[in-house]
Amino acid sequence: MSHTKLRVVPLGGLGEVGKNMMAIEYGENLLVIDTGLMFPENDMLGIDYIIPDFQYLLERRQRVRGIVVTHGHEDHTGAIQHVLGQINVPIYATALTHGLMEDKLSRGGLLSQAKLNTVRAGEAVQVGPFGVEFFHVCHSIPDGVGLGITTPAGLIIHSGDYKFDHTPVDGWPTDYAKLGEFCGRGVLALLSDSTNADKPGWTPSERVIEPAFDQVFRTAKGRIIIATFASVVSRMQQAADVAMRFRRKLAFVGTSMNENVRIARKLGYLDAPEDLIIGVEQALRLKPDEIVLMCTGSQGEPSSILGRLSTGTNRQFNLTPGDTVILSSHPIPGNEENVHRTINRLLRRGANVIYGAIAPVHVSGHANQEEMKLLMHLLRPKNFIPIHGELRHLHQHAILAHELGIPAENVAVIENGQVMEFENGEMHLGERVPGGYVFVDGSGVGDIGPEVVREREALARDGFVLVNLALDREAGTLHEDPEIITRGFVYTQNADELMAATRKVITDMVWNSEGDLQNEVQQALKAFFYNETKRRPMIFVTVNRA
Ligand SMILES: [Zn+2]
Ligand SMILES: [Zn+2]
Repeated sequence: MSHTKLRVVPLGGLGEVGKNMMAIEYGENLLVIDTGLMFPENDMLGIDYIIPDFQYLLERRQRVRGIVVTHGHEDHTGAIQHVLGQINVPIYATALTHGLMEDKLSRGGLLSQAKLNTVRAGEAVQVGPFGVEFFHVCHSIPDGVGLGITTPAGLIIHSGDYKFDHTPVDGWPTDYAKLGEFCGRGVLALLSDSTNADKPGWTPSERVIEPAFDQVFRTAKGRIIIATFASVVSRMQQAADVAMRFRRKLAFVGTSMNENVRIARKLGYLDAPEDLIIGVEQALRLKPDEIVLMCTGSQGEPSSILGRLSTGTNRQFNLTPGDTVILSSHPIPGNEENVHRTINRLLRRGANVIYGAIAPVHVSGHANQEEMKLLMHLLRPKNFIPIHGELRHLHQHAILAHELGIPAENVAVIENGQVMEFENGEMHLGERVPGGYVFVDGSGVGDIGPEVVREREALARDGFVLVNLALDREAGTLHEDPEIITRGFVYTQNADELMAATRKVITDMVWNSEGDLQNEVQQALKAFFYNETKRRPMIFVTVNRA
């Protein structure tokens, strides 16, 4: 066995749900697995999305041999244009994953230079010293793969996002035989999806949705609106099937959803008769009980179609009493509040709302505990690193591994940026590398730091106060009363007293100034406002000397 170390460098998705990304490093060679994004939490104002900090790769860009993408979900593909813009290496992915990424790359103007290689599950490619075998896994999107990576130091298995569905919508179960074969060769380490590590039992098959959909369709009198993620192609197939059974036409609403439908149909991953799927305009001219509309917004995102329907601000059509809305996805951790608020708003507008808590209109695409155990038994890895999940998921997944007899020293619960090294079959903790956030908003990538987000949060929470001081140039005294403007801080008409006291604080400060009046007033007001109101508005002070 060689003395070069094999290194696993997690850059995203360990210690969080989303922006999955990792590098496998051997000598002067790096293989990147997934380039995902994460949608911001509620309190990250004005941030469109977050991508991994891939400084580690940028510093070694000459050594990056390729990028492998496991499936077409945005938490695995969403940063591809940002990575490829700086590191243009060959990409390997299955047909649907490629199709979905092409759209992103063409929007970033990168499609013509991109070196896209389409692979099929069951195939293998050599990328530098890494022999990468793609094996099929079931998930909530077709054409997902896990990876068997043969390195000079041993065989690494990356599960991708997976579940063990015996009756998947596309009829293509996870490749158990391949997993058994890997086991026979000896698995140095398993890196495996932890999303549902705190859920006992098995994740139900995608099939269980069909009776639930049937039940809703049987009783719905008006329009049916199904909200889910734009990339959940298997759910689109199920919507198409049930629409056909109940003689309704199906229309997809929104650009991202229509684009994904176009790609999935073109590549044969969405099978629906020509006349079943119609445009929204056309659908809206039909009778309410003749149509199904499918849209995004199941996470309560305010700018999504469902979000706009819930607030009555959708341009093309509005909710009417009698509409049935199905939320066909689980809230991503952290989004629950948004989702519940959206459900309440939809109900207020007279819609009948069906969601996970009242009918099985969604099942997870991720393995539960029993499936996780099965994967470990099928592979019998020497070492185990839980990936894809918050720390509590990774931790729980590690407990399962202990239960199955993997010794504690062979299990690594690590978060983004913590390198693991393998030498002579042994796993050791390596150094820490950057593994944080890069914020992307309308104005660009990474020019928004945590500082800016904090400022936006402060503005949203406590508003701002603008103080304009006109000073006499010679005497340094106030030329006129300080001008005070507040927004989002206090109702000015109710705050005469506070404003009078504020004016007094400012006037005193001008009298006692030791030179840096702007800063002195700012500090004095900061303390004063916090004392009086327990709030911390942003304070701006301008000084004009005339
Ligand atoms: Zn996924
Ligand atoms: Zn994922």
